[in-house]
Amino acid sequence: MQNEHTCTNGRQYLTQTAPPFDANGNCPIGAEERQAMVQALEQKFAEIMDILRIDRSDPNSADTPRRLARMWVEELFRGRYEPMPRCTLFPNRHKTSGIVMSRGIEVRSVCSHHWQPIIGECIIGYVPDRHIIGLSKLNRIVEWFSRRGQVQEELTEQIAQFLWERLRPRALGVILACRHYCMILRGVESDEEQAIMVTSAWRGELAEDPHWRDEFFRLAGLELPDHARIAAPRV
Ligand SMILES: [Zn+2]
Repeated sequence: MQNEHTCTNGRQYLTQTAPPFDANGNCPIGAEERQAMVQALEQKFAEIMDILRIDRSDPNSADTPRRLARMWVEELFRGRYEPMPRCTLFPNRHKTSGIVMSRGIEVRSVCSHHWQPIIGECIIGYVPDRHIIGLSKLNRIVEWFSRRGQVQEELTEQIAQFLWERLRPRALGVILACRHYCMILRGVESDEEQAIMVTSAWRGELAEDPHWRDEFFRLAGLELPDHARIAAPRV
């Protein structure tokens, strides 16, 4: 996580510096550089509209290149250019030994493949060891990883690994259930209500012990058929 990255030099920059420049990597940059990035993008989006033969003097389209540039840098890919959120921990003074769970954490992301929305929900549950974490931090961590080009499977693992390394709980589980609009608007044109992708990541005792996972699903309000309980894979 270097702060001296200068992302505005485009291709030349990518070939001269080290990762992480995957779509879901992180390269924090300052406000000035972000502004330069918006200006460079605005020009490119104007070119794209010309190629698509969209008249930019149309009042509805006149400001579209600027809107698009700001939207990608300041909103949809925002997390990519911001430093990681502070991860405030508190001592587990009362030796909480059950699952601490947060449900209904909103996921608003964009798929790396088509740059179309991924919208859904995240559930995070952990069994504390020495520390507990402020609940709002879980939302911030999910948001930070979501606001960039993502692949849901990798997003799930990124959230789990980030918490596993910093919180160091006895057990950790992360479930994401999301709609991918690249599957709804285009391609197979899935039904919006039906097309939900579910992914999970397990660490520690939740990865090893099916009874903990049963408890996780019960608290999460997720139905799990009996045969799935018995056959729940070790991850
Ligand atoms: Zn996609």
